[in-house]
Amino acid sequence: MTQAVSIPIQDHDLLTGMRSFLTAIMEKSGIDAILVPARLSVKNRIMPMLISDPACLTEADPLSPAFPVNAAQQLTRLTRQPAGGRLAAVLRPCEVRAFNELVKLNQGRREDVLIISLDCPGALSNSDFRTFADGYDSLDAASRAFAATAFSSAPAGDLPEVTSACRACDHPVCDGGDIGIERFGDDQATDPVARAHTESGQAALTGLDFPPPQAPAEGRKAAIQSILAVRRRYRDGMFAEVAEATNTIPALSTYLADCVNCYNCRGACPVCYCTTCVFSTDTFRHEPFQYVQWARRKGEIKMPTDTLFFHLTRMAHMSCACVGCGQCTNACPNDIPLSDLFTYVARHTQGAFDYRAGLDINARPPMNGFEEEEYPEIVGL
Ligand code: SF4
Ligand code: SF4
Ligand code: SF4
Repeated sequence: MTQAVSIPIQDHDLLTGMRSFLTAIMEKSGIDAILVPARLSVKNRIMPMLISDPACLTEADPLSPAFPVNAAQQLTRLTRQPAGGRLAAVLRPCEVRAFNELVKLNQGRREDVLIISLDCPGALSNSDFRTFADGYDSLDAASRAFAATAFSSAPAGDLPEVTSACRACDHPVCDGGDIGIERFGDDQATDPVARAHTESGQAALTGLDFPPPQAPAEGRKAAIQSILAVRRRYRDGMFAEVAEATNTIPALSTYLADCVNCYNCRGACPVCYCTTCVFSTDTFRHEPFQYVQWARRKGEIKMPTDTLFFHLTRMAHMSCACVGCGQCTNACPNDIPLSDLFTYVARHTQGAFDYRAGLDINARPPMNGFEEEEYPEIVGL
């Protein structure tokens, strides 16, 4: 079984090389359709596309800094039942981790999907991406320019234009997928390596007619360490700011004051897993007299109500599954830095259970089990 292959690149054109690699995977590994970021035919934008015709892979763009949705959600739609064919998906590392969390909650299946993930230098918010892409003649040119900077010998740990979530992300490589494409630390003189992380990944690489890796990329480990050091510094500063800004209920209310209960953050969050959210039921459609009574008691109330309760409920439900992808912030029309807050809380909740969301497909989510001896000082037994 093949552990790793080299992806041949002509003239430093990583984008074309990636498209050829994906075409080979589709044609030689029995893949019927592949979910991959690709150019829309109707507009100059990138979206996750389900491609069944290998000829359409000329539109695929896994290097683009666009990140309009966390595609783990889309992959659950394709895998919650057998899809009648074998699938592949090209996902960012945080999408892989989100999908793994959803698989653990029986909302998707790993059996019929081959997951490929690239080293991830980060992504732009939707609005920043539009500005960035519109500065180039084509989306291909924009992606090539971004990749050239992101994977240059200067480490991509602190690309200023990527989102706050990405600047704080400390899992930017393929953790939990089947095949990882390695580019960090690459001097652009060697071809990138596709490395199998699972038996399924090995089987797919074995079927390809690709050469073995060239000399090992010696700079990779050091580059990753350097990126992580920069990101952890940023993350620690971000967490300190969030802690100070939210350390009381009034402070937390101020942090979330611009919220208008549109619930975009809930819809964009890949691991907000309830199929029916209690905040969309009549439970929170209070009787008119109730609102008036609250207003009388306090003198005034913000409408819509229950904003803080919504965020605390969401946090209680999914903070052990938060993968820090930043899509909640990306989706908020009022620019509330939600992912800064949710990743800060997640760091504590996941840390309390020694759990990291999505990294180990076999690790049981903390809230899915009961340990009799757990936290006796809290449960009082
Ligand atoms: S959160 Fe991490 S994995 Fe996700 S897009 Fe940002 S850098 Fe990439
Ligand atoms: S997306 Fe923003 S405004 Fe909408 S519910 Fe979430 S925090 Fe509130
Ligand atoms: S809470 Fe925000 S950062 Fe965390 S997984 Fe959901 S969308 Fe991503």
